[in-house]
Amino acid sequence: MIIKTIEVFSVRIPLRPECHMITALGLHTESNYVIIRVETSDGVEGVGEATVSERWSGETIWGAIAILKHILIPAVIGMDPTDIEAIDKKLAWQARGNWFAKSAIEMACWDIKGKVAGKPVYDLLGGPCRGLQYENRFSMGAFDVPRAQQRAAELVEAGFNTIKVKVGGKAEDDIDRVRAVRAVIGSERQLTIDANCGWNVETAIHCINAMEDCNLALVEQPTPDGDYASLARVRRETTPPIMADDICFDLIHAHELIRNECCDVISVYPGKNGGIHRSQQIVELAAEHGIACTIGSNLEYDVATAAMAHLVVGCTNMQVETHPGDSLGPSYHEFSIAKNPLDIQWPYTTVSDRPGLGVAMDWDRVRVAGGHL
Ligand SMILES: [Mg+2]
Repeated sequence: MIIKTIEVFSVRIPLRPECHMITALGLHTESNYVIIRVETSDGVEGVGEATVSERWSGETIWGAIAILKHILIPAVIGMDPTDIEAIDKKLAWQARGNWFAKSAIEMACWDIKGKVAGKPVYDLLGGPCRGLQYENRFSMGAFDVPRAQQRAAELVEAGFNTIKVKVGGKAEDDIDRVRAVRAVIGSERQLTIDANCGWNVETAIHCINAMEDCNLALVEQPTPDGDYASLARVRRETTPPIMADDICFDLIHAHELIRNECCDVISVYPGKNGGIHRSQQIVELAAEHGIACTIGSNLEYDVATAAMAHLVVGCTNMQVETHPGDSLGPSYHEFSIAKNPLDIQWPYTTVSDRPGLGVAMDWDRVRVAGGHL
């Protein structure tokens, strides 16, 4: 069986107004995705998604489509889609970076491999290592204090036990927001923060220490991408566990995080890490060094969120029980493009036991949501 054709679709979906996101990277009200449909010589269909965000990853809908159509897809046509390592090597050889675009092809191959084997992807990864349903945190934007407090109250009402607050802007605003949210959610629930590289090292240390009374369960990516020394210094000079996210795209980055003793937790997900196989490699390396992993997010849609959920269920060291992650992306958006979307009931995500990724596209909806290029 070989890969016969790969079609590429672009979609642009608005976020539900209450899920609008403000981070150190600005306001996010609409998401862009590239959805691919892989067909094999045996007529098996696989689906993949590139979740693109120019400010977060540098990948755009136009760039992802171009590199897929002109470089990545021609390279894998004729290859065996179930030989994931060969596919991964080929994609790596073709282009540097472009993690999210590469992951679209890679996850589609896992989808096919699962369908051919009659097994869900988490089984192929060695799972299930936990129940098919797991709890998520909610990621709240960097709102002003009144809006943050109102949103926090709504999230408590919706059943969330862990709330992540975006920071990484002006120190005093960040401190006020986090304190205000802690006051609303009470002392029992977990509170975490994510600066998305927005602070420098001095501001990070100042803010985290000033938030000591907020009992933070996790501090995510306080300092800039590429700066391992600053992340390690924040970890030494503050008390909450540190999670690396925007600094860790591949195995080399994970090695550097470990070597420099930068973090207690690594945020992993197939889009950012260039595929499910590469994500699993990072999760296993981290496990060897006693570092937990959890699932991060770039507001993925139906297909990539399913890939994330399979990684969670398939890998022991995806410690979502201690550090709830975020695989709620589709529920942040106005509508779904799947015929059988992932079961997401806040705060829970339940992965399907159908073969492959378990998500079938509604191609008519994909076409309606696209066409803006
Ligand atoms: Mg993050």
